[in-house]
Amino acid sequence: MSTPATPHVPAAQGCTITNLHKSYGDVEVLKGISVDVKPGEVVCLIGPSGSGKSTLLRCINLLEEPNDGTITVAGFDATDPDVQLDEMRAHVGMVFQSFNLFPHMSALDNCSIAQRRVLGRSRDEADATSREHLEQVGLAELADRYPDQLSGGQQQRVAIARALSMQPSLMLFDEPTSALDPETVGDVLGVMRQLAKAGMTMVVVTHEMGFARDVADRVLFMDGGLLVEQGPAREVIGNPQHERTQSFLARVL
Ligand code: ADP
Ligand code: MG
Repeated sequence: MSTPATPHVPAAQGCTITNLHKSYGDVEVLKGISVDVKPGEVVCLIGPSGSGKSTLLRCINLLEEPNDGTITVAGFDATDPDVQLDEMRAHVGMVFQSFNLFPHMSALDNCSIAQRRVLGRSRDEADATSREHLEQVGLAELADRYPDQLSGGQQQRVAIARALSMQPSLMLFDEPTSALDPETVGDVLGVMRQLAKAGMTMVVVTHEMGFARDVADRVLFMDGGLLVEQGPAREVIGNPQHERTQSFLARVL
């Protein structure tokens, strides 16, 4: 991996979630979640499979519609029916477990396409921004490669560069390293560490407890659609108070 460039983070913004409820049919998967993420804060969200972590993240940029509660994110009232969705989502970068790159586009074009379509940037302007962020994630030399010519870790770094190219004021990560070969996990976590250090607001669903302990300002433990415990990373991971947090950590550590 080449040396990443100095990160550039535009004005970071936060996110406030109040009494969020979400059901699928009769099944309530978020049972009243309230979280306040400060600008520049790094929050890791941990918890067992099925506890509602992805649903919570997806509600933040309205990939799922909440049944009740309010969400303000990056200065937008996400639960206002009149919210400008494209504009709001341009401020909220999202990185998924499966990288979701366009397979028929180069790394560069993957980074440029939304800038041109959503932000109305010219090709030159978009490509220049994309190259800056591909350099930031250590992939300057691979800009012309297609996804199938890149390792999983490289593809995920392209996905991060693509999100950063929109100049988001907050980033959401849903298990960004869970689908990666072990030897490429470190590169992706390294990029995320840098981003955190540069002051990006980040909400990260992860099972990487080392990353959470080192990088997160705060760790939230979710179980059964509820926020069970939260606090500074070292306290929640090192000295969990709740029995459900203890048994979860005993299984993953
Ligand atoms: P996690 O990310 O913590 O594993 P999820 O948010 O993906 O949990 O899922 C929480 C619960 O909601 C699970 O029981 C899951 O089966 C259910 N669920 C998630 N998405 C849907 C959906 N689109 N339709 C129905 N049920 C869903
Ligand atoms: Mg999930």
